[in-house]
Amino acid sequence: CGIIGILGREAVAPQLVDALKRLEYRGYDSAGVATLENGRLTRRRAEGKLKNLEQRLAREPLAGLVGIGHTRWATHGRPNEINAHPHAADRVAVVHNGIIENFNELRGELEGRGVRFASETDTEVVAQLVAAVMAEGFGPVEAVKAVLPRLRGAFALAFVFEGEDDLMIGARRGSPLAVGYGDGEMYLGSDAIALAPFTSRISYLEDGDWVVLHRGSVQIYDEAGAPVERPVLTSSASA
Ligand code: GLU
Repeated sequence: CGIIGILGREAVAPQLVDALKRLEYRGYDSAGVATLENGRLTRRRAEGKLKNLEQRLAREPLAGLVGIGHTRWATHGRPNEINAHPHAADRVAVVHNGIIENFNELRGELEGRGVRFASETDTEVVAQLVAAVMAEGFGPVEAVKAVLPRLRGAFALAFVFEGEDDLMIGARRGSPLAVGYGDGEMYLGSDAIALAPFTSRISYLEDGDWVVLHRGSVQIYDEAGAPVERPVLTSSASA
């Protein structure tokens, strides 16, 4: 129900959790974060309140300068740790707000090709589809670009990739997603409130947009894949 993504310059796990606290008002039943720790995608997830995730992170801290976080309001699959986001497959991890309406059909197709699913969620098909395209030799950007048109329903998505410590990809259709511009850091968030501690310079993605973020550059594309500019606003949300 809430999304945060950070391409940062210091350990992002505590920042991800702080941003998730600011998204608590939306309601949630579980939460999780994933970072690139020593080059490997590593996740910590917990059922229930953010305090449970914080306790988990206190016991098993998570390093890494790139990461995504999520508060989940379950629509498909019980609220438990296995179904909590981020979902991961091979070299990709994703967080998702919304519903992938054709997930059953996509899951069936992937299972027919031998893919094994770890969770009961609609979201995991997104990770598995992107991983499947990457396994054919495509890069992360090409893979996300190929997968988005296959998804039906409403979504905001944020992706990070193993081996890519200067890349984050976001996409929105139906659910809101904002880009935050930092100083040598970049952010994705469900709203300006989540991003307020980090930056007040925000662009809202329009419906169908997707965005490729590096620390030094941001490129937004529309649904047809054409590069587009979206205004950079100054948010008045208080940090
Ligand atoms: N449909 C997804 C799930 O149930 C995402 C729910 C949400 O927006 O938090 O896992």
